[in-house]
Amino acid sequence: MSDLQPVDSKIIEILENTISGDIFSSLDEKYKMEPRGKFHNTAKFVAKPRTAKDVSEIIKCANSLGFGIVPYSGGSGLVCGQISTSGQPLLLSLERLNKLRDFDPISGIIKVESGMILSEVKRLSQNYGRQFPLTLASQGSCMIGGNLATNAGGVNVLKYGSARDLCLGIEAVLADGKLFNDLKALKKDNSGYDIRNLLIGSEGTLGVITAASLKTFPKTNNIAAMVSIRSPNEAVELYSFLNSRLEFSLQAFELISSTGIEFLSVTGLRKSFPINSKRDWFVLLEVGSTEISLLKDFFESCLYEANEKGVVDEIVVSQNERQYDSLWEIRELIPEANRLIGAISNHDISLPITKIAEFIGKAEEEILRISNSVRVNCFGHVGDGNLHFNVFPPNGSSKKEFDSFSEKITEKVNSLVFDYNGSISAEHGIGRLKKDDLCKYSEPMKLELMKRIKNTFDPKNILNPGSIFIN
Ligand SMILES: Cc1cc2nc3c(=O)[nH]c(=O)nc-3n(C[C@H](O)[C@H](O)[C@H](O)COP(=O)(O)OP(=O)(O)OC[C@H]3O[C@@H](n4cnc5c(N)ncnc54)[C@H](O)[C@@H]3O)c2cc1C
Repeated sequence: MSDLQPVDSKIIEILENTISGDIFSSLDEKYKMEPRGKFHNTAKFVAKPRTAKDVSEIIKCANSLGFGIVPYSGGSGLVCGQISTSGQPLLLSLERLNKLRDFDPISGIIKVESGMILSEVKRLSQNYGRQFPLTLASQGSCMIGGNLATNAGGVNVLKYGSARDLCLGIEAVLADGKLFNDLKALKKDNSGYDIRNLLIGSEGTLGVITAASLKTFPKTNNIAAMVSIRSPNEAVELYSFLNSRLEFSLQAFELISSTGIEFLSVTGLRKSFPINSKRDWFVLLEVGSTEISLLKDFFESCLYEANEKGVVDEIVVSQNERQYDSLWEIRELIPEANRLIGAISNHDISLPITKIAEFIGKAEEEILRISNSVRVNCFGHVGDGNLHFNVFPPNGSSKKEFDSFSEKITEKVNSLVFDYNGSISAEHGIGRLKKDDLCKYSEPMKLELMKRIKNTFDPKNILNPGSIFIN
């Protein structure tokens, strides 16, 4: 990275003389920090291209002049992939590439530019009588290009898969400025290596995504339920039972802890909670179908059966849209409550589902050995084996007082994840925050192949330098 040119006013002058259209400016306030407010962007200038051709021209200049490019979509990434923390690359915001290219009513495939905000992709799909199921709490700001670059997950992965599973085609600009056009959207295509799926999840280090062909699905009517349970073990038992009964109609299965509920209350984000019994754990579930009336009775009978078996305690099932939204609001507000309380360390991890309960118990025990007053708020997409395992200071203390424990806690959690054959990044990616951990916990041959691929795609290391790899 050190031999890349800093993007200063002289480089901007060259770019402005080469590419017309009022594209370049100094960095506006909104690009200066990442969502958790830990890191400041070291880039001084931003480019806001309007077309894939503009992107191509900018990257051609980066390649010939030798400066770095950091792709930026909604800026909601949680591993600091979208802002530079050293050097002075050009921030490349995709926000103006936000047009609908096409919708095919027969296949249900929607083609959009990469800067379209996720909630807009969802809204357009609804207008066509379909649904685009990728669902994240950040959907009002994140963009489809960012979702694909990070292979985002969210709450409906259980049924529909992650961003990669929802994408049938990609258009991207490569490190030499050439356009890779694979928007054909074929369900079956075994003609050689799968370049599309290499670009998805590459966090802007192999190419800049400019458009995508996405799968949409028939709209479903959905029902949510909140149940109380005694332990994560029961969550796994409940998941196994419901999965065998409900199979494809089970859309979400989210573990929530009483600490998460307490955080909602103390931050004032949400005071009421529909469950009366004092339990340490809860599960938020969702089922959906185009034919909901039959499913509703069956879903309720499954939950009562689980109650008779002693797996769940109290059960609340949404009876209308208002109650459905209210149950989901609890889950959706937890990341914001966490942000307001301020975590000492955050972990987005995945584990074999059979090991989840054991892991939670062991990790809490080990962390309390490091500092016996911290609080753990563990929640997440248990149906996908994905936990957000976050550690907070005790009530009344600030995270600053516990900063010295952060590294030790992260190391402990990651090494346990490794011991349990899990992954140190389930859905957020590697970015700049987890590159040391990737190096430490990755299978060596995987890392070696990743480096070779990076070198083939981007030999001058101009695409998102400093992200994923330790240079
Ligand atoms: C409140 C909150 C809740 C969240 N919930 C979830 C969740 O449930 N599941 C989940 O997976 N994530 C979640 N996230 C993380 C985040 O929203 C996702 O990672 C999202 O996919 C990032 O999209 P973005 O448009 O904001 O991308 P950015 O943050 O702008 O970029 C993310 C990465 O992608 C690269 N990139 C961006 N655009 C492109 C492009 N067009 N071409 C190539 N590379 C590009 C960037 O360089 C960066 O490395 C959450 C974040 C917040 C703040």
